[in-house]
Amino acid sequence: MNLDAASPPYPVALVGAGPGNPGLLTLRAVECLAQADLVLYDRLVPDSLLAFAPETAELVCGEELPGCHPERVHNIHRRLIDAARAGRRVVRLKGGDPFIFGRGGEEAEALAEAGVEYEIVPGVTAALGAAAYAGLPLTHRRYASAVAFITGHERPDKEDSSLDWAALAHFPGTLVVYMGVARLTNVVEKLLAHGMAPDTPTAAVHWATTGRQRTIEAPLSGLAVAVEEAALKAPALLVIGATAALRPRLSWFEKRPLFGKRVLVTRPRHQAGDMVRQLELLGAIVSVMPTVEVKELADYAPVDRALANLSAYQWLVFTSANGVHFFMRRLLKSGRDMRALGPVRLAVIGPATADALREYHLEPDLIPPQYRSESLATALKDRVKGQRVLLARADRGRDLLREELSHTAEVEQIAVYSQVDAIEIDLELLEQISQGHIDYITLTSSKIAEALIRMLDPAARRRIRAGDVKLVSISPVTSAAIRKLDLPVAAEAAEYTTAKVMEALVLLARSASDG
Ligand code: SAH
Repeated sequence: MNLDAASPPYPVALVGAGPGNPGLLTLRAVECLAQADLVLYDRLVPDSLLAFAPETAELVCGEELPGCHPERVHNIHRRLIDAARAGRRVVRLKGGDPFIFGRGGEEAEALAEAGVEYEIVPGVTAALGAAAYAGLPLTHRRYASAVAFITGHERPDKEDSSLDWAALAHFPGTLVVYMGVARLTNVVEKLLAHGMAPDTPTAAVHWATTGRQRTIEAPLSGLAVAVEEAALKAPALLVIGATAALRPRLSWFEKRPLFGKRVLVTRPRHQAGDMVRQLELLGAIVSVMPTVEVKELADYAPVDRALANLSAYQWLVFTSANGVHFFMRRLLKSGRDMRALGPVRLAVIGPATADALREYHLEPDLIPPQYRSESLATALKDRVKGQRVLLARADRGRDLLREELSHTAEVEQIAVYSQVDAIEIDLELLEQISQGHIDYITLTSSKIAEALIRMLDPAARRRIRAGDVKLVSISPVTSAAIRKLDLPVAAEAAEYTTAKVMEALVLLARSASDG
């Protein structure tokens, strides 16, 4: 989709980011983010949503701008106006919906006053997110004919509250209180004092729609104690009204197999997206810490020579999806197209590599029964007898395939991309492993596993040995690499695919909760 051609340029978009789950962004929000030069975001917006902006976009947290509160608000307005006037595309990304307790109204006013054009993209407000993900219908034919969104953030000593508590106490429906945790006692006291029934069902929902979601249920009179006992903190919403009693039957998100489990994905960032999304849908709290990165080669001369000489090979062999993409990109960049491959036969190591080929409308001629070098070598050995084979791979890795095939064929091995240990190490995430604050680490290749284990301190290793932090491996080769470094493997994928890694993780989580 070419958005630049399809949508007119806008200077500023005030965009609702929804309550935190990336799946609840609107299509328009994703389009705006994809075109942004500057994203000015709120503290409540999770990092995973910022990933929809281009890598080149400048990302600025509004709350981290200098100045105290009123001055900072002014600074945000200034920044929006200045950037727009400088011709930059600005996304002002706000939690939930911009026009619900988000100061979006004030920002739009400031832009209008400055004569800057803007667009407003609504978002799923926290009340709707919490209602859906915690099983709390806001209206119900039998119990609630109206819903009110109110702020709990008023100062308790404010004489003339702008809220009519008497009316709220008799409201014929559901009350949703934003920013209400800090002022919980005040809210409850006011409602009780004005005649709301003490046994009115209520729920408090923390970080709704994300793996961090926690929900506390209590009758109105017991809510403050229950929230305090559970140490529930902001951001949280209070839902007050008869429909809160339906929750035990309607909750579904908290029943997802990985709900609340903290999972660390160690793939290169550009390859982690799908897996992160799937894990989030299963309810997990996901962090990404790449342990290896793939990079362009410093010298493409050997690749270019092979491309110029493709007709000399009978077989072209890929052992990773990255290998396919880098090879094909170079082929296309050299002005050739898929016809350059001619009759060459294509072999791949497994389904992910096969899928990468299919993106170029190519079907592999051979996928071995087991997705590993040994199996690929066995499957190829007889078929390549006396022929010329081109192995396209990373600039590091096992040599087994070349060695095995060299017995029967003429093999040339070329690096088509470079694989390096990750340069930026996330110390905070490493600390979380050492503290046992990560439940599972997925390891999707032996190189990734080795690179991760090199980063671990003795405390982290102890956590893994004790089973507080569990390693989930993609294949027997990866498991062997982990065991060689003296650490246990908690589960192994039945097949060399990320889908099976997640399946293994789910089984492991189930057995842990059963036992
Ligand atoms: N504009 C936002 C609200 C901003 S006010 C919206 O439309 O949702 C911030 C308050 O919103 C927090 O104090 C909390 O009460 C609520 N909130 C935001 N995200 C939340 C979430 N994921 N779960 C629970 N409450 C949330």
